Amino acid sequence: MNANVIIIGGGPAGLFTAIQSSKKNKKVIILEKNSTPGKKLLITGSGQCNLTQAGNIKQFFNHYGENDKFIRSSLYGFNNKDLINFFKKRGVDFSTTDQGKIFPASYQAKDILNVLLQACSEKNIIIKYSEPVQQIKFSQDSKNFISKTNKNEYVSEYLVLATGGQSYTVTGSSGDGYQFAKSLGHTINQPKPSLTPLYIENYQFSDLAGISLSEVGISLWRKGSLLKRWSGDLLFTHKGLSGPGILNYSRYIDAGDTIKLKLIDAKNEAILDNDLANKIELNGKLLFKNLLKELPLPYRLTSKIIETASIENDKISAQVTKAERKKVAKLLFALPLTVERLGGFNVAMVTKGGISLKEIDPKTMESSILANFFAVGEVLDLDGDTGGYNLQAAFSTGYMAGQAIKARI
Ligand SMILES: Cc1cc2nc3c(=O)[nH]c(=O)nc-3n(C[C@H](O)[C@H](O)[C@H](O)COP(=O)(O)OP(=O)(O)OC[C@H]3O[C@@H](n4cnc5c(N)ncnc54)[C@H](O)[C@@H]3O)c2cc1C
Repeated sequence: MNANVIIIGGGPAGLFTAIQSSKKNKKVIILEKNSTPGKKLLITGSGQCNLTQAGNIKQFFNHYGENDKFIRSSLYGFNNKDLINFFKKRGVDFSTTDQGKIFPASYQAKDILNVLLQACSEKNIIIKYSEPVQQIKFSQDSKNFISKTNKNEYVSEYLVLATGGQSYTVTGSSGDGYQFAKSLGHTINQPKPSLTPLYIENYQFSDLAGISLSEVGISLWRKGSLLKRWSGDLLFTHKGLSGPGILNYSRYIDAGDTIKLKLIDAKNEAILDNDLANKIELNGKLLFKNLLKELPLPYRLTSKIIETASIENDKISAQVTKAERKKVAKLLFALPLTVERLGGFNVAMVTKGGISLKEIDPKTMESSILANFFAVGEVLDLDGDTGGYNLQAAFSTGYMAGQAIKARI
């Protein structure tokens, strides 16, 4: 079967590229492995779809890790307001949370998917379901691409990879795109789970599961050296740590690293210790665990700190030794936790790694190795923070590729 444009993958990036590239009398076909489109889109934001963020597009720039420079052209080319307007024009209203996250007002991801499918249908875009692409080839003679599925062979002038990353494989994104791109000569940067929780070695905090803390100071250490410091919201889980302050930085973390949590905001450990000494002097008769209730931390957490410092549960504050008090100050100032492993692809929301951005034109998403070959969305070595940054990237890169193709066919 012949087409002008073949797009592999019917997720947000593929659907949007198709919509943007479509032109009268030109055939655009999406090949989708699942029997339905946008499976991952439907589970975004727990089914509510955090589509993007409010604010100036420049504020997006430092939310894509090391690869933020690449995404700038596409974010300028199709920004958060353009994205919202695309859906607003088609009848979707939006709500913005206090943190600037933008959701459809219905809080239903399916409303976003339905608009995309409706637009595809209006533009006569053909979507072939249950057709996993198994192999792609480029013919040097005809200058065409050949995409082989389980059922057919498709020949096209333009080929777009929109196969997603490697996380949540049940949604269809199982890393196939990496093999396809590699077979055409592209470099694949090692895919790694990202936006993923941490599992902690000898974890003592399981019974704190569910406790969340706001704006905790977090530092990342590797072999004794400080790699990074940041602050963010944190969640204790049954086996380790999660929450935006962990997920958004998981791209930098490896097994064996140490995470230190600054549970109390103090200038240094000595000041914190001094503060504790003063509290003890004023309230010596109080149980130490009750004295620590004065700290802006959940009681269960301070009790755990006392336990971790090997101080008896019913110790009177005045009886706490200097060494014990110093131990508590140390734990409150920099609670060290060793990362046993990161959550795998089954729990990671996105994939870090993928098609090297050095081989992709940031203005068009076209390969610099092979003309008329494009890659969009998460198959690229591009991963954003939680908060709508990944869907914005899928739509913005899809827009750039779609427009570039439309201008040429
Ligand atoms: C649980 C969860 C929640 C998330 N929530 C949010 C959120 O609220 N906001 C946000 O911005 N981001 C969120 N994300 C991330 C976001 O969903 C992805 O970054 C985005 O879907 C990537 O879009 P894509 O089109 O590149 O890839 P995908 O959405 O993964 O789509 C790829 C498509 O390609 C198809 N495909 C793969 N291989 C083949 C093949 N060989 N042949 C044919 N078809 C193939 C797949 O079946 C799939 O339909 C979330 C992710 C997860 C897992």
